Amino acid sequence: MTPWSEPLEVDLLADGGADLDFAVPLGELAGLRSLRAGVGGSVQGQAQFAREQGTAVADLAFSGTVTLQCQRCLQPMERSLERMSRIALIASENEATRVPLEREPVLAAGGRISIGELLTEELLLLLPIVPLHEESECASKAAAAERFAAGRETHRPFANLADLLKR
Ligand SMILES: [Zn+2]
Repeated sequence: MTPWSEPLEVDLLADGGADLDFAVPLGELAGLRSLRAGVGGSVQGQAQFAREQGTAVADLAFSGTVTLQCQRCLQPMERSLERMSRIALIASENEATRVPLEREPVLAAGGRISIGELLTEELLLLLPIVPLHEESECASKAAAAERFAAGRETHRPFANLADLLKR
């Protein structure tokens, strides 16, 4: 198992055709946590590196269960994930134009990236910015009614969203 937080040398992996197994606790990915409030769960998978037409590439296959915080009722919601991402690892933004169409460019600054950073890039694309339960599964109505009955403070469903927009 490859330590997910360790920066890896992209060229070495690509030229060696490395095949790495990983398991990542999502709540520990700082870059993901700062943009997806309350994220938790874990994913596991494999990253297979190669070089295609001079570019370092990685096929990232992963699956697992992600926990997000519903922005309506603020209760956790679970989502299962299964994904195969075809990535091209570029050292600078300029190289993005040389990436084959079917591959998604990910910046590996200084030619190094960790599995955690790679996964963060993918999950930011996959996970909704404002996660919401299906209406039938959401606790917001019941929760609001309870709070009203108890005469407590007003429900603020978008409190977290306001924080996100401030960034
Ligand atoms: Zn909800």
